Amino acid sequence: MELSSSAEDEPARLLDPESFYAEPESPTEIDWGALEFHDVFKIYRSGSAETVALRGLDLRIEQGEMVAVIGPSGSGKSTMLALAAALDTPSAGDVRSLGRSLAQLDESDLADYRARQVAIVFQGDNLWPALSARENVATTLRMAGHGGAEQAASQALATFGLGKREHLRPAELSGGEQQRVAIAAAAAREARLVLADEPTGELDEANESIVLESLRELRDEHGSAVVVVTHAERVAGACDRVVAIRDGRVEQ
Ligand code: ADP
Repeated sequence: MELSSSAEDEPARLLDPESFYAEPESPTEIDWGALEFHDVFKIYRSGSAETVALRGLDLRIEQGEMVAVIGPSGSGKSTMLALAAALDTPSAGDVRSLGRSLAQLDESDLADYRARQVAIVFQGDNLWPALSARENVATTLRMAGHGGAEQAASQALATFGLGKREHLRPAELSGGEQQRVAIAAAAAREARLVLADEPTGELDEANESIVLESLRELRDEHGSAVVVVTHAERVAGACDRVVAIRDGRVEQ
């Protein structure tokens, strides 16, 4: 995979970590939510059929908070993550991150948001299979416009206990190690919002604990907000707060 590794030819605004954020009068005084849903509706239409996936979702997740999102299948959890990652748009209502409404971002701000601010950790298959762990993290960094990607990748992998395994490809790593590579990539680019969709769904208990610990480290060391969609009680219990979603809104 040939991707630009040159930081010089990136637009200046992409290299400025502060460029994404709203322009507060005083950044320290304003406490932006890492993620906010304000009366959000999402309706999928296919021919004459309509599915209301979200119906008035109101939710605020703080910076540095680790929140579990639980709810039955079909309750709207994946839709919520897709909107938070700006991979889809709401039918009505407002999704905000760090003080900015995602609907107000132009294409280049949206690209910046997806590449730099948000990281998604799926249940599995987060990595490019042909690349080593180190190249996986480095590639993510280059896509986010970081210079020194290789070195930063090695450093992040070492932090998450994978220093000796950085040259291995995903197939040579355990499921838990693969998830930690994805988490290391989120840490390396200092994603402010980490969206994890059943990140331990395929793991045994020992690996589940290690992955949970890594997510907590992201929260504690980088101040990232971490949203974990999960069915596992143990995972939910390890989060700061549990939000239950039912029929497209937060259950009271
Ligand atoms: P969960 O993640 O909680 O299982 P989802 O967000 O995947 O819930 O789905 C919520 C509802 O929206 C479900 O009824 C689902 O069938 C529907 N849905 C999700 N994605 C689509 C789509 N792309 N097109 C049509 N309906 C969808």
